[in-house]
Amino acid sequence: MPSGRTHDRITLYALPFVAGITFWQTRSSNATLLVAGGFLFGGLMFGPDLDIYSVQYQRWGLLRWIWLPYQKSLRHRSFLSHGPIIGTTLRLLYLGCLLAILAIFALTIAQKLWNLSITWQDLGRTVGRSLIDYDTEYVALFLGLELGAMSHSLSDWSGSAYKRFQKQGIRGLLPSIKIKKHQVTSRGKRRSKPRNTKSRS
Ligand SMILES: [Zn+2]
Repeated sequence: MPSGRTHDRITLYALPFVAGITFWQTRSSNATLLVAGGFLFGGLMFGPDLDIYSVQYQRWGLLRWIWLPYQKSLRHRSFLSHGPIIGTTLRLLYLGCLLAILAIFALTIAQKLWNLSITWQDLGRTVGRSLIDYDTEYVALFLGLELGAMSHSLSDWSGSAYKRFQKQGIRGLLPSIKIKKHQVTSRGKRRSKPRNTKSRS
């Protein structure tokens, strides 16, 4: 699996292509900005490796603790964080829930302190309307985030496939055979399986 720095480099090198292809296809600078911005954010900060202590996680700075429950509940490189569509969708839902909790908190305080008359219905309607009014923009942003996350997952997968290929040749690319072989040797040697420590990737 490539290191955090390699992932960053892949993201930055791929950015002109992502932006170029989007502009070529849409002829819209708005869409291009959103896709490219989403791609950068998805690749550098909002990617699959938020499921572990990673560069992406560290980039959240003072706010990084918000990803601790996410890390606790997901195995590193699990399908739920590294899988296509599902990874980005889950992270967005996760962040959305946190923001909603924050909004509840802020709204309650604002109502108490300044007697604000904003209600939940108002807030819900505003969010709903913006989702409908700016649906193309949201889709472009999601696409960017997803592309950023997928460039990560793809390089993770191809990186480990390449490593297996170097070690075992073509056989290393066939997961079932590899698993069987591993079980036989570890039983034969009667060695306890080393604890799988989480590593940065
Ligand atoms: Zn990863």
